[in-house]
Amino acid sequence: MSGECAICAGHAAPVAARLEAWRDEHFMLRHHTQPAPALGWFLLDLMRHAQGPGDFTAAEASAFGPVLKRCLAAVKATTLCDRVYCMAFGESALHFHMHLAPRWARDGHTAAWNMADNYRATILQPGAVDDAEIAQLVAAVGRLLNPAS
Ligand SMILES: [Zn+2]
Repeated sequence: MSGECAICAGHAAPVAARLEAWRDEHFMLRHHTQPAPALGWFLLDLMRHAQGPGDFTAAEASAFGPVLKRCLAAVKATTLCDRVYCMAFGESALHFHMHLAPRWARDGHTAAWNMADNYRATILQPGAVDDAEIAQLVAAVGRLLNPAS
C-alpha cells in the first residue's frame, strides 16, 4: 500500500463496505463513488498497489482474464446494458483500476469516446445517481459474484 494512494486508502475505508460488490486476494469490484457517472459504473481494482497490467505478478495476470469476464457478466446481467466498456488509464491514480462502464445503445451520449465527455459532465452533478439504487445494485452484483454461504 502507498500512503498517498486514494485507491489503497479506499480499500480500507468505510466507504468500501457500501460500494464493494466482491473481492478476492488479487482484485476488488466496487461501484464508482459519488458523484457516480452512471448507475452500474463499476471499477475493478488491483488489491496490490501497482500501476497497470504490465506490473501484474504472474498470479495476478493469470487471474485477471477470468475475473474480468465474471465481473463484466455480473454488471451486464444486473444493469441490463447492451455492453460494458472497459477503460484503464492509470493516470489519476497510479494504481490499476479498470472502469467497467455500462453502455446502453439507446443512449447516444455514451457511444465510444462520447463516454469520456459524458463522464466529465455527469460527475459534476451530485445526486444524479441515487445512493439507494447504488446499494441495491452492489448487492445484486455481489450475489452473482460471491458464493452463497
Ligand atoms: Zn494504491
